[in-house]
Amino acid sequence: MSPDVYNITLYDTQIMALTSLLLRLNCAEYKNWMKAGYCLQILQSRLQGYIDVEMQRFHRQLRQNMAARQRHTCQCRSKGKQFQPNCAVCKEWKEHILNHHNNKNGEIHWGNCNPSLWPTHYWEVAKVYMPRGQTNSKGPRQCDAAALLNLINSCDHFKVSNITKVREVIKCRNDLMHSSDMKVSSSWLDDFGQKIQELIYEFRHVPSLVNEADQIQEVLLTDWSVDNLSVYEVDGCVADGGENFCIRNSSLDGFSLNELEIQLVSQLLEELYLQKEENGALSEEDQDSVRKMKTFLTENQDLLPVFQDDLKKLEHLLS
Ligand SMILES: [Zn+2]
Repeated sequence: MSPDVYNITLYDTQIMALTSLLLRLNCAEYKNWMKAGYCLQILQSRLQGYIDVEMQRFHRQLRQNMAARQRHTCQCRSKGKQFQPNCAVCKEWKEHILNHHNNKNGEIHWGNCNPSLWPTHYWEVAKVYMPRGQTNSKGPRQCDAAALLNLINSCDHFKVSNITKVREVIKCRNDLMHSSDMKVSSSWLDDFGQKIQELIYEFRHVPSLVNEADQIQEVLLTDWSVDNLSVYEVDGCVADGGENFCIRNSSLDGFSLNELEIQLVSQLLEELYLQKEENGALSEEDQDSVRKMKTFLTENQDLLPVFQDDLKKLEHLLS
């Protein structure tokens, strides 16, 4: 860390937070977990525009074959994995949407969408092909990599020559989000790197994605050691905690490691909450994950100000 960069006076809490983050980054497996999470974020940001265009196109094609194309009002409501239409419009749309579903006999999260909006809102149609937890999503920019990749996997509008390549990255993403100690081995990361590059190759007709192959490779190969990190003073970088610094690295594209870490931990917590919401209770494995997350947040005091409410929620999940 060069003195000209690190020339700010840090107060005790800031030093504590800085030390905690750098200590976490000393753990290769934790760093691997963050790198993989960041690669998925790059993938997600580059898929969003493409999916937006494609789903609007898909919606237009569906409408052309439909008698009911106009805005209508009805009382049909979906819930969880159930949807029984009560009106002719929703019935027709449901049938057409299912015709394009690659897993029409499996679980479909109808509760994601508002069926009465299908004729006029393309995204309400897209959400039928996505995993649970998308009810409030208004467009692809509010979706993570898992949601977008599952959409590609489930909707036959996307002609992917080797869909296994998409499914393999979905599986990696699930491994990552179910790794409650937030650690993955270097061999896992190498394997993940290979799979994500193969997925990009499947989408070589999407320029926004192809251009990112090199950036993803750079993230996977970068060290994020103290030597190639820079510390900057930035007001309000970490919410309310008084820790006004950011740790950056050139591979992060303007992001700070602090911000990235907070986003990834938030996603992990969100998965746990969804698990509870969907199943009503937590399995032994999930309870173990909750305990591990609690320990992690308690031991890393610098993250506590950001995740104070989550810590209470986690305690509530175990009670
Ligand atoms: Zn209806």
